Amino acid sequence: MSANERADPRWGDWEPVIGLEVHVQLSTRSKMFSTSSTAFGAAPNTQANAVDLGLPGVLPVINREAVRKAVQFGLAVGAEVNQRSVFDRKNYFYPDLPKGYQISQFKHPIVGRGALTVTLPGGEQRTIGITRAHLEEDAGKSIHDAVPGRTAIDLNRAGTPLLEVVSEPELRSASEAAAYFRTLHSLVRYLGICDGNLAEGSMRCDANVSVRRRGSNVLGQRTETKNINSFRFVEQAIDFEIARQIAVLEAGGSIVQETRLYDPDANETRAMRTKEDSDDYRYFPDPDLQPLVVSDQELEAIAAAMPELPTARRMRYVEQLGLTEYDAELIVADPDLAEYFEATAAAAGGGKAAANWILGDLTAALNRDECTVRESRVSSDQLGQLIQRINDGTISGKIGKTLFETLWNDADTRATVDGLIDARGLRQVSDSGAIETIVDDIIAANPKQVEQFKGGKDKVFGFFVGQVMKATQGKANPKAVNDILRAKLSG
Ligand code: ADP
Ligand code: MG
Repeated sequence: MSANERADPRWGDWEPVIGLEVHVQLSTRSKMFSTSSTAFGAAPNTQANAVDLGLPGVLPVINREAVRKAVQFGLAVGAEVNQRSVFDRKNYFYPDLPKGYQISQFKHPIVGRGALTVTLPGGEQRTIGITRAHLEEDAGKSIHDAVPGRTAIDLNRAGTPLLEVVSEPELRSASEAAAYFRTLHSLVRYLGICDGNLAEGSMRCDANVSVRRRGSNVLGQRTETKNINSFRFVEQAIDFEIARQIAVLEAGGSIVQETRLYDPDANETRAMRTKEDSDDYRYFPDPDLQPLVVSDQELEAIAAAMPELPTARRMRYVEQLGLTEYDAELIVADPDLAEYFEATAAAAGGGKAAANWILGDLTAALNRDECTVRESRVSSDQLGQLIQRINDGTISGKIGKTLFETLWNDADTRATVDGLIDARGLRQVSDSGAIETIVDDIIAANPKQVEQFKGGKDKVFGFFVGQVMKATQGKANPKAVNDILRAKLSG
């Protein structure tokens, strides 16, 4: 699809341009430059030590695990990994930054240019350039609602390792930006480098937005909306900002380069401060840290240990397990769901039915009871067994659905599918002798309908099928019922 075909009628002659900066909290046990814990939820100010506070006389030490995770990310997006990178000091004053500077990589980031292929909501794929990804430390948190009338500071987060992933300004709509954010979220979880917990702030994004006349090649003036932590908010904030900028420009105004905040309650962005240029930060290499070197051996070891990535997994599901692209995409997006799927497919002896059940009945039940797939009340083993019993004709598909609900709602968690089938007498009746007897009775009891059928009213056939199913409580094998009915009614 060309850019013009993607044009959103809401924006008329304007084309949005979006670049995202995503902060990924790396899931290391200790901080970027100190030994204090990164665990979420501890009592305020219990997890910041002298290094995090920047007290005199202490020295930062680079966390190698964070480095390995950054390298893994670089390899996953096909980026050049810079085996020599440099930590700088980014100087600014803010109450939650006790050192007065943040250690970050500026001129020489660990990860250079790469790319991420994103599947858009309509199924179309686009490859978005990644400009760079650099290591840095997080700041503390300012808390505005803990102490009335004051701002409280919690420094537990200070020094937590972050990988900041910067995209090229190649996204063209809010939904593309959200899709990019989702894809990145899925990727870091597959890599195991971030827990992906958006609610706890493990991934936050800054959305840079500008608009320009369609067909123009120059970038418009942009604003940067900070710290968005949900897929939905990314989309809403960007849409709001696009509409706002277009209105300003069409009224003859101009866009000010500034930092804005998104307020989800009001669904609007508000100006926070005019944007600093990098000069304002007086970056310089941190004299306490040597350049970061990743040896050839280290790089090779990380490359050798790379897990299967979402793209490869999607292809495997399509090519080896017979899933549609669409189903594979849905399952792969969530590593927990993918794990459940693999276990179910293994237990069922095939992938196609497993995918249908997972995306149908299972997803519906999870949504209804608001639980995650890890909390599923039907295990992958149980679902696999259930599918097998449908495949081998022990139960009908329809009974299978009821059985699924039974497993979900009231069965003992240790209940086996076979046990329930026996205990509840759900076995499908495929024995043709038994079905014939029932069919004979029904034909004898309904002479009027038999006549109608013989007179060419084909629809009555459904009536007979219904009667047999009723008589067998839905347990008759539908194919056997069809065959026997056809034969007897036409005979
Ligand atoms: P900074 O760190 O000062 O925010 P960068 O130049 O590194 O600045 O850009 C940050 C992000 O802004 C990148 O994701 C980039 O793609 C995006 N960006 C830059 N210029 C524009 C623009 N005119 N419109 C939209 N996004 C932009
Ligand atoms: Mg920025």
